[in-house]
Amino acid sequence: MSIAENIAAIRTRMRNAAMASGRDPAEILLCGASKMNDAQACRDAIAAGIDCLGENRVQEMTRKLSENAYEGAPLHFIGVLQKNKVRQVVGNVDLIHSVDSMGLLDEIDKRAGMMGLTQKILLEVNVGGEDSKSGFSPDEIRGVVETVLARKESHVQIQGLMAIPPAADAPGANRPYFLQMHNLFVDITPLLLHNNDKLTLSMGMSGDFEDAIAAGSTMIRVGTAIFGARHYPAV
Ligand SMILES: *Cc1c(COP(=O)(O)O)cnc(C)c1O
Repeated sequence: MSIAENIAAIRTRMRNAAMASGRDPAEILLCGASKMNDAQACRDAIAAGIDCLGENRVQEMTRKLSENAYEGAPLHFIGVLQKNKVRQVVGNVDLIHSVDSMGLLDEIDKRAGMMGLTQKILLEVNVGGEDSKSGFSPDEIRGVVETVLARKESHVQIQGLMAIPPAADAPGANRPYFLQMHNLFVDITPLLLHNNDKLTLSMGMSGDFEDAIAAGSTMIRVGTAIFGARHYPAV
């Protein structure tokens, strides 16, 4: 199956999942998680109408930017972001999904201020409370939003939330996490409605995006089901 065929098949599944839960399919965007895939694969996905591409690693993204891999689609950053790499990301991407601490948020704010721009971000929630994952805990989110909104000057704009729930050990196992994320999203939506852009609830990957859509996701991040299995180099 080609990338275009895979995207078409995912679009059909997205539409079916949306309609099964009474949602408008047009309100759910498909972000291609293009890590480990080359510039040509990115271009193929854009030609096939992907809504945006998301990268995980700064070095790989920088290289692919220099190869014009993302021309024609918004670029997002979705991976763990270290503070010392913020300068390579701010201003180069439309949205950073993976803001997982106040320290990182402040670093992005500082950098965006220096560049004279406003960086759009999502707050990453460690919805499963896993030690192995980064992110704010669900009960911190409202306070973080209020803190940022209360600042006189801010160069970040919070557009919503993102989560990577625990690896599901059975079909549907992540539904409670997706529902919890949706509740959190609904809770903060009134605070953020002054933003002109539509807010984003980024959740759902190749193995569970239908459950995420049923729970209210507005953006799914799909890698394997578009680009095929990733081949990590042997170490
Ligand atoms: C790789 C990745 C995805 C996509 O994962 P698949 O299971 O291949 O669809 C989504 N989100 C993030 C943050 C990722 O790193």
